[in-house]
Parts: sequence; C-alpha cells; structure tokens
Amino acid sequence: MTRPMKSPIISLIRLDEPTPQHDGWICTPHGRDSCTRDIVAVAELQTKDAVQPYRVCEAWLTENTRAVAYLAENGYDNR
Ligand SMILES: [Zn+2]
Repeated sequence: MTRPMKSPIISLIRLDEPTPQHDGWICTPHGRDSCTRDIVAVAELQTKDAVQPYRVCEAWLTENTRAVAYLAENGYDNR
C-alpha cells in the first residue's frame, strides 16, 4: 500500500546511481516493510508548513500519478 500523497512535488532530483536502502535511508512512500528496492531519486514535497524530502524507488516514479505528471512536464531537475 502506498501512502496517499496530497502535497505537490516542487522538485525531483535523480540520484547519480541507485542507492540501496539502509538505516534511515528508506523509501519514504512505501516504507521499510513494503519496499526493498534501491532509492533512485529524491522528491521535495510542499506540505502545509514545510518542504519535505521524499526518498523514492523507481516503482514509485511510475505508479504515482503526480510523479509521472511532474516528469512529463519538467523532467528531472538536475538533468
Ligand atoms: Zn519504494
């Protein structure tokens, strides 16, 4: 189950290379228990009072409609 994400993405940065999850470096939307994939990007989400970093795996980038729309419109912010 993916936690619903209501906050808009304000940036999406592709990592230089996929990084295995470790310690506190986990897939934010899927959580430690349901995702063992490598982290491939970091999204910044604008919540009500803060900008929250979201570490995400490749699957999230294709299953999350906001991420798909963001990439279609903007691409990665570091490319
Ligand atoms: Zn994941």
